[in-house]
Amino acid sequence: MSPFPRHYLSTIHLPFNSTCLAGRFTPQPPDAACAGEGYWLLISAGELLLREDATGLSLPRGSALPAGIIAAAPPLHIGHWDGLPCRVAAISRNFSLPPGWVRESFSAAVPRLSIEFASLAALAQQILRWEKESRYCSTCGGSLSRVAGGWGKSCPDCQSLRFPAIHPCVIVLIHRPGELLLARKAEWPAGRYGLVAGFLDFGEALEEAVQREVLEETGISVKDIRYIGSQAWPFPGQIMAGFTAEYAGGELCVDAHELEDARWFSLDALPELPPPRSIARFLLDQHLEQR
Ligand SMILES: [Zn+2]
Repeated sequence: MSPFPRHYLSTIHLPFNSTCLAGRFTPQPPDAACAGEGYWLLISAGELLLREDATGLSLPRGSALPAGIIAAAPPLHIGHWDGLPCRVAAISRNFSLPPGWVRESFSAAVPRLSIEFASLAALAQQILRWEKESRYCSTCGGSLSRVAGGWGKSCPDCQSLRFPAIHPCVIVLIHRPGELLLARKAEWPAGRYGLVAGFLDFGEALEEAVQREVLEETGISVKDIRYIGSQAWPFPGQIMAGFTAEYAGGELCVDAHELEDARWFSLDALPELPPPRSIARFLLDQHLEQR
């Protein structure tokens, strides 16, 4: 049983969007760091390290790294959580936890974490990734310096600027009367089907990416492409733009490099669908409710 909601009011309420943190987390760049008591986000390869006792899971608190915890790199200030400084530190995957600690996945289909903790941990992991990947200038190889007041980096040697990259993807529910076109990738759990999705290409509008991805992966063309909403997808750093589209023509022809299968399903005989935490499921649930 997951503490995540089963239904979401709108796409902005989906996990990993900042609305999930509203009122509890105020983001700040690392140069706003302040000393004293604070919360610790200890991130280890898709997992958050927490204290667990009879009252449940809690973020560790203190002015220094908790006793017995060894970080792989110096901790970083990322803002305030519940009014206290919030610091993130990367912990090695092989680190053995002291008693009273647990590792909880924030990318699991059915997380044990609250939506707040999972969204905060996923945000922290993206920041750690950016810090790791922005040490050196990709133009000249020099060491990058932090730009004051933000997450950007600058190169003192060639004056290049770098900013965190978030990769846009489209995901689309394709429908025709009484049926949905669903697809599955080989690495998904057996029997589960989802929606066609893909990365935006050079020179494309989001709607054009929808048309191209659907044609490439399934051989069909679509019309009446409608934007519904978006979801931050921090695995590792995408923004998923969700659409619906109506079948316009063409014969189904599955791209075996991208998909294991794609087929039309009757609305009355759908297979296992993606977990409720994803915009894919939101689009499906909304379509089924409106039928
Ligand atoms: Zn440079």
